[in-house]
Amino acid sequence: MSEEHKDQKDGQYEEVCYICRRPESKAGKMFRMPNHICICQDCMQKTFDAINQNPGGYLDLLNMNPAMMNVQMKDIPNRQKVRQKPQEADEKKGKKEEEKPLTLKDIPAPHRIKAELDEFIIGQDHAKKVVSVAVYNHYKRVVENAMDDIEIEKSNMLMIGPTGSGKTYLVRTLARLLNVPLAITDATSLTEAGYIGDDVESVLSKLLAAADNDVEKAQRGIVFIDEIDKIAKKRNTNSRDVSGESVQQGLLKLLEGSEVEVPVGATSKNAMVPMVTINTRNILFICGGAFPELENVIKSRLNQKSSIGFEADLKDKYDRDPNILRQVTIDDLREFGMIPEFLGRLPVVFTLDGLTKEMLVKILKEPKNAILKQYQKLLELDGVELVFDEDALEAIAEKALEKRTGARALRSIIEEFMLDIMYEIPRDETIGRVTITRSYIEKTGVPKIELRTGTSLRPAISERTAANGES
Ligand code: ADP
Repeated sequence: MSEEHKDQKDGQYEEVCYICRRPESKAGKMFRMPNHICICQDCMQKTFDAINQNPGGYLDLLNMNPAMMNVQMKDIPNRQKVRQKPQEADEKKGKKEEEKPLTLKDIPAPHRIKAELDEFIIGQDHAKKVVSVAVYNHYKRVVENAMDDIEIEKSNMLMIGPTGSGKTYLVRTLARLLNVPLAITDATSLTEAGYIGDDVESVLSKLLAAADNDVEKAQRGIVFIDEIDKIAKKRNTNSRDVSGESVQQGLLKLLEGSEVEVPVGATSKNAMVPMVTINTRNILFICGGAFPELENVIKSRLNQKSSIGFEADLKDKYDRDPNILRQVTIDDLREFGMIPEFLGRLPVVFTLDGLTKEMLVKILKEPKNAILKQYQKLLELDGVELVFDEDALEAIAEKALEKRTGARALRSIIEEFMLDIMYEIPRDETIGRVTITRSYIEKTGVPKIELRTGTSLRPAISERTAANGES
């Protein structure tokens, strides 16, 4: 019997609800939590209701989080007070972690950033180089905040590239490598304040959540706004453009650097949600989009130029150029529907190339966490070697190209034909090696199966059979 129960039985004292302070005789049966904390059923219900209304934020505020339960009751003077001052709490936390401030030495040099990106991202050399330099400069600017006379400008970026070419992946890899919080938002979900949809400030709430509500950390994070081409100015519209131009307008002050009131633990402001102030001055904003119609804008500009005067050329010279996006100019983007003020706040503009068959094959096998390596590892645990013919990889890449969703198609194709293999192999312990061939991918043949030499069972299987008590 536990200490407290014994005490209670002896009639020495009665449990009191941690929240409403009513004794068990009045409040009814208590929920017992670690650190001798008891909560009555009414308060527990109220807490759940509050969590449902404001997921995330309330747990911290009530100090219900088991990790925070070591706090003594006397240390929490008043629940209301704690709720109103999340910023203070965050600031204290920030100070604690501030022991090791970011210095110039902590920021990897551009060539090191690129080398690390190379391990995960195939091709896109130009994009990786631009990003490495821009990020290096950005964090230099953050560190040297106190530079007096010369103010280094923010290097927010605009990334243009076909779908599935690695835009999001590049940003994710970057954030992981720099160990800064990252928020990824879709520009299509944003609308002008007051309309259905998320306000532009919701991107900062996401960043704050990614930084575990640590304001200091969030202020050095990265925000990636995907599908930015979807907020281009709508042409020929008479109604108010609440999800296009207005969103670009709304983003201006965030991109530039300003103080914004942000709700903690929710994406919309209301009276129940506590607020903190975030300064976006040192937040790196990266906008990305596929800009599908942009190619036509560029082509018509180039064709127009080349069809007059001495430079006259074949009219469709640019129609067959797969990397026409590389020739993009700010004027093209303006023509596409991005407003000049918005473009002015994204000084670094670069493009990613569409993936070719060769690149797709490399993506399958070369990156540090390549899909093939993942499957090989899975089968290795069953004691089976998985081999892919070079020809089979090309067949997978060809199928992926047909789907026109870049590298995104690779995984779904592989999952489809690996299903049977992953299902059958654990059943047959004599299999030692499986080779995937082109004909298997094209559904005209079967994979090559080689049996194990010798009579021993594969280790993983023999262990499992033993554990199951099978013969
Ligand atoms: P998008 O450009 O549409 O944002 P993603 O970055 O989401 O595309 O790419 C989808 C997936 O494809 C990524 O998770 C990644 O695994 C893979 N991928 C895309 N491009 C590359 C690349 N260049 N190198 C390695 N993997 C890539």
